[in-house]
Amino acid sequence: MGLSLYNTLSRRVEPFTPVAPPRVTLYSCGPTVWNYAHIGNFRTFLFVDLLRRWLEASGYDVYHIMNLTDVDDRIIKEAGKQSLTVDQLVTPFISAFYEDRDYLRIRPATEYPRATGYIPAMIRMVEGLLTNGTAYRGEDGSVYYSIAKFPAYGRLSQLDRRSLKTGASGRVTSDEYDKENARDFVLWKAARPEDEAAQAAWDTPFGRGRPGWHLECSAMALDLIGKRFGAEVLDLHTGAVDLIFPHHEDEIAQSCAYTGQPEFARLWLHGEFLSVKGTKMSKRFGNYTTARDLRQDGVDAGAIRLLVYQTHYRQKLDLTDEGLAAAREGARRLGEFARRLEGSIGQADAPEFSAAADTLDQEFRSALDDDLNAPRAVAAVFAFLSEGNRLLDAGLLPGPRSLAAWRRTDDVLEATTRVRVYDIRVSDSGVLSDRSTVTSDPPLEEQPPTPVAEQEAWASGWARRRLVAKTRRDFSEADRIRALLQSHGWEVRDRKDGTIEVSRRS
Ligand SMILES: [Zn+2]
Repeated sequence: MGLSLYNTLSRRVEPFTPVAPPRVTLYSCGPTVWNYAHIGNFRTFLFVDLLRRWLEASGYDVYHIMNLTDVDDRIIKEAGKQSLTVDQLVTPFISAFYEDRDYLRIRPATEYPRATGYIPAMIRMVEGLLTNGTAYRGEDGSVYYSIAKFPAYGRLSQLDRRSLKTGASGRVTSDEYDKENARDFVLWKAARPEDEAAQAAWDTPFGRGRPGWHLECSAMALDLIGKRFGAEVLDLHTGAVDLIFPHHEDEIAQSCAYTGQPEFARLWLHGEFLSVKGTKMSKRFGNYTTARDLRQDGVDAGAIRLLVYQTHYRQKLDLTDEGLAAAREGARRLGEFARRLEGSIGQADAPEFSAAADTLDQEFRSALDDDLNAPRAVAAVFAFLSEGNRLLDAGLLPGPRSLAAWRRTDDVLEATTRVRVYDIRVSDSGVLSDRSTVTSDPPLEEQPPTPVAEQEAWASGWARRRLVAKTRRDFSEADRIRALLQSHGWEVRDRKDGTIEVSRRS
């Protein structure tokens, strides 16, 4: 059967056939790095992560581009407020974005191009569009795209052509505008004093200025797939539903007019919104929860992934306390089952386990092949969990077949809370031993936390990492961790039984 996906262009579920298999080029509109991304943004990125992982699990070789918008109207305005350059404003938020991505176990993209790093590609594109007559210079010094020159304009968003306003009176310079007023949009904005103040202006043959938001994605995508593969058409393009118009409509218009290709991406996929208790989550409404809010609340990433994947990506998802609590419980059950399963693996599968593993494989594949039906895939995993517990209770043993089937699903969803077994003993002198069986922990800061009560957990976390590093024979990392602990007053002693003792010098 193979993978089918809902294409916003055709409003149908279509078989997915990449241009040059097994390669898949995937472009995802990424974050605007002027603030912490909220959990609604991350719902979109988790949908992309599922797509990416399922493609890879299906044998595709995915070249994944996610852009970082580091110059646009909002960034320049915010930089001005704080008297910063755009680069000064965005740099910490780019690091924060990567941290949040790692916390949520999102596989890193192949490329994270920053818009300001691709100005020459944008200049080439604007020049090409000026030369072929689809772009023109306004009397304000900016360069605009003439949507009247692109008959397919409005196809993706199914705009009523008659409502299109064109020409000098129907032009728009802001990066976002509403659907009722499709207009010629700006490709290159003439520099204003506030752009200069934020160091967001570049010299070009068509005047000093800075790129419009829509241009950034087209120029970076085409530059990267052109250089890497000589390609001009993406296999897949993703974003949240609010990007369909005008952003993706404009991306298509610019890219196709520039390359002469009939399409910019074969399939356009759009993820629905996340709302919080019924209100659309957005920074404008001030009700957002960031990924780091959840992390600080001690919410395991497995629970967030489970919560997101229990709803189909084309359905709205309402984040409630009850929903989150249920997901935490579900992810914990998955973790406990994984431990039980892994701890019971025998030489060969009992026939009942083999049958359950076959069912899991088939159900999981057919669910995700069907337009990434993650809720059905999750249901198949929980069905295996129930059956597996029943078989284990009856004394039947799983083997390599069951373990492989389970791990294949976990490799795609990663919605499991990794169960931690801590055996930390603290004596009067502050010695603590650690027999924990944890192999994977949340990110740890290099600096110990200020509250004394949290410092032991910090030290034992690093001690565990030292154990893992030694097991991997990564002795330079093991030595680095010892030095790190010592620099903060902790002694590290490797014991004969394989555990590590961490004690604080008093
Ligand atoms: Zn984009």
